[in-house]
Amino acid sequence: MTIAILGGGQLARMLVLAGTPLGLRFRCLDPAPDAVAGHVCEHLCAPFDDPDALAKLARGAEVVTFEFENVPAATTERLVQHGPVRPHPRALATGQDRLFEKQLFQRLGMGVPEYRTAHTLAELQAAVDAVGAPCIVKTRRLGYDGRGQARLKPGPELAAAIAAAHRELTHGNDGGLIVERFVPFQRELSVLAVRSLRGEVAVYPLVENVHEGGILRRSRAPAPDVSAATSKQAHDFVAAVLQDLDYVGVLAIELFDLGGTLLANEMAPRVHNSGHWTIEGSVCSQFENHVRAVAGLPLGSTAMAHGAATMVNCIGTLPARDAALALPGVHLHAYGKQPRENRKVGHATVVGADRAAVDALAAKIAALPPARGEW
Ligand code: AMP
Repeated sequence: MTIAILGGGQLARMLVLAGTPLGLRFRCLDPAPDAVAGHVCEHLCAPFDDPDALAKLARGAEVVTFEFENVPAATTERLVQHGPVRPHPRALATGQDRLFEKQLFQRLGMGVPEYRTAHTLAELQAAVDAVGAPCIVKTRRLGYDGRGQARLKPGPELAAAIAAAHRELTHGNDGGLIVERFVPFQRELSVLAVRSLRGEVAVYPLVENVHEGGILRRSRAPAPDVSAATSKQAHDFVAAVLQDLDYVGVLAIELFDLGGTLLANEMAPRVHNSGHWTIEGSVCSQFENHVRAVAGLPLGSTAMAHGAATMVNCIGTLPARDAALALPGVHLHAYGKQPRENRKVGHATVVGADRAAVDALAAKIAALPPARGEW
């Protein structure tokens, strides 16, 4: 059985690495000649809107899936003509737009940060007035890793900051803006779950995430100090979203924890960076479970395989390989990407029975010197 993947980055690469031992074959489409999934599967190098390339991608494949959600609608419309697309394009369309996501979350009874939408500068000023500063202006579509956002503080500079945010964020973007009240969260959590073709749902333990500059730096699982009620709320919520979208595959939802009260931030209709720890930390990883789900196979267990797991992202550079591997128990994943500022080029995971020992080792990894020259 062949699975086609739209996108050929590290997420596609880890899907291939997880699915290959199951006897599955993979083909990816990515316009970048150096797409890193191309190291481990057939790579079609063409734009995402190339009809011939899309036909080639889907030819002989049982199913098409995605490693990213910002897929042009015309692309998904073409792909569904060739065969099953999982998750369904409706889930992608929801995940592409912050307003659609929030409306879905609210309809399912989940709290979200207070928000208003805006297009024009006057609308943006009114939206900021209504929500109140401090607040965050985000593009409704196409933002990621903190890009496409501006933070606004109260004070004499506010009017100028609103005008600047409008100029920057509407440049080349016709999808509109959303203004969110700045939420004084205690921490960020995420919940990942998978739904099979037959409708079975399995949920991973809640994850605690630390972001810096809008980019995920560290994830800890299970998130420490989570009450049974909070955990149940997150589980029930992600299950409701999966059900509502008739979703097949892995879905991630980012949450703000206000000290026992959860607000939903956004969802990713795909495998997610805050689930990379599941490769070593779970009985069945998010990557294998996504592949199993879209291929119509039974799901694997989402239970922890160890007491604790911590994932450290390698941003911009990888650590020196010798030094990293000299630390016992470190699982290193280099994505084969060229180092570049703010680029996710790899991650390392530590697992163990003891949370404090796992965190201590993760801190050592984070403090490793960067590799010099070729890795
Ligand atoms: P996002 O792209 O929506 O995930 O935003 C990137 C990061 O900005 C989040 O992980 C949070 O750390 C922060 N952030 C986003 N929205 C809010 C908000 N409404 N209040 C406080 N912090 C936020």
